[in-house]
Amino acid sequence: MSATDDVLKPDFDAQQKHFIFNDDHEQLRQSIAAFVAKELTPHAEEWEETTFPDSVIHRMGELGFLGLSMPEEYGGQGGDYYCNLVLAEEMARSNSGGLAMGVAVHTDMAMPPIHLFGTEEQKQEWLVPAIKGEKILSLGITEPDAGSDVSGIKTRAVRDGDEYVINGSKTYITNGHRADVIVLVTKTDPDAGYDGFTLFLVPMDSPGVIREKKLEKLGMHASDTALLAFQDVRVPASAMLGQEGKGFYHIMWELQGERLIGAAGCVAGAQLCFDKTLEYAMERQAFGRQIGKFQVIRHKFAEMATKIETARQMTYMTAWKFNNGEYPVREISMAKLYSARIAVEVADECIQIHGGAGYMKEYGVERTWRDMRLNRIGAGTDEIMLDVIGRSYGL
Ligand SMILES: Cc1cc2nc3c(=O)[nH]c(=O)nc-3n(C[C@H](O)[C@H](O)[C@H](O)COP(=O)(O)OP(=O)(O)OC[C@H]3O[C@@H](n4cnc5c(N)ncnc54)[C@H](O)[C@@H]3O)c2cc1C
Repeated sequence: MSATDDVLKPDFDAQQKHFIFNDDHEQLRQSIAAFVAKELTPHAEEWEETTFPDSVIHRMGELGFLGLSMPEEYGGQGGDYYCNLVLAEEMARSNSGGLAMGVAVHTDMAMPPIHLFGTEEQKQEWLVPAIKGEKILSLGITEPDAGSDVSGIKTRAVRDGDEYVINGSKTYITNGHRADVIVLVTKTDPDAGYDGFTLFLVPMDSPGVIREKKLEKLGMHASDTALLAFQDVRVPASAMLGQEGKGFYHIMWELQGERLIGAAGCVAGAQLCFDKTLEYAMERQAFGRQIGKFQVIRHKFAEMATKIETARQMTYMTAWKFNNGEYPVREISMAKLYSARIAVEVADECIQIHGGAGYMKEYGVERTWRDMRLNRIGAGTDEIMLDVIGRSYGL
């Protein structure tokens, strides 16, 4: 509230930043926003047809956007976790969910485990060029017969002298067709339960790595999604990422950052769709008035705004805990679940408010709905998030 004379009026347009962000974050936000508006958004339509070019990653590396929270000694910017949130939020403005996802797989899914668990040699080989945008990363967990049930994967890595021999397959792998390396989840000891998993950094040009078909999807068309086969792929023992037998725990850690970034992307995508639709509702006339002036429509906006704000606050508060050294798995699961759900609800309601125009590609809201729909499945389905939350209470 601001005091004007002796009357207090609500500050609907106050642009107070959230307490997790400081002036450096705001400067970063402005420079990413300028880059996105100038170099990405104009190509969103084209890349729906062709997928985005690798040059986007190279360019983002040049601009220093790929290692925002990575140490400076590896070429990163040495920032905090909130910088990654800023990137995820601003990438949503590219109007291309597929592009935002491809970049996030590189920066927030495959890169963190290399940084945290990698040897110095592995960091020099993969992390440094990935931050520069010279090498592209992917992450391979899901298999044709095991997605939610990560412990059910069948890809095997068997030791043979100084090497491991890998056999198996992975599916729905984002960046799978363009990646230089994959962080691969394998089983090294099928009898050891959760202690039988091991991660490997597998160069995608290794003999026996087969990039099978590019998969066709409902949305996220600007990203490439691969079915991959690994046939007697030999990697040196030095390609092991982290500890032998600890891969399951390593990947569960990775999933937390991935889910939180996904939540931030959902909130930003929902907000953008809301803003676009608000503008439309102010212009579109029916029965002699702006459609936004019908109480029914006004209430739709009120419902959407409340959901978006709730999801945003939940995501920011959870990020604050995460950035301050907590491991808030319950809250991350809640933020991921809620943000993904409301993003789809908001996009659906925005289509409704647009009427027939909402069903047309020209207005872009149908694409937001299709792109956002993935978030209720990828990185852990709604059902798995509910299970994690429920179990966290000892149930
Ligand atoms: C476009 C796209 C990109 C992707 N990118 C990647 C990537 O880069 N790397 C990668 O590794 N994976 C990726 N994935 C895979 C994604 O993470 C999985 O699809 C997801 O984890 C679900 O696994 P699934 O598809 O095997 O479904 P399933 O596990 O077969 O689940 C099917 C249904 O059963 C439900 N279900 C399963 N178990 C339970 C349970 N215990 N309780 C209640 N319900 C349950 C699920 O919620 C779901 O509704 C991607 C997927 C898509 C679609």
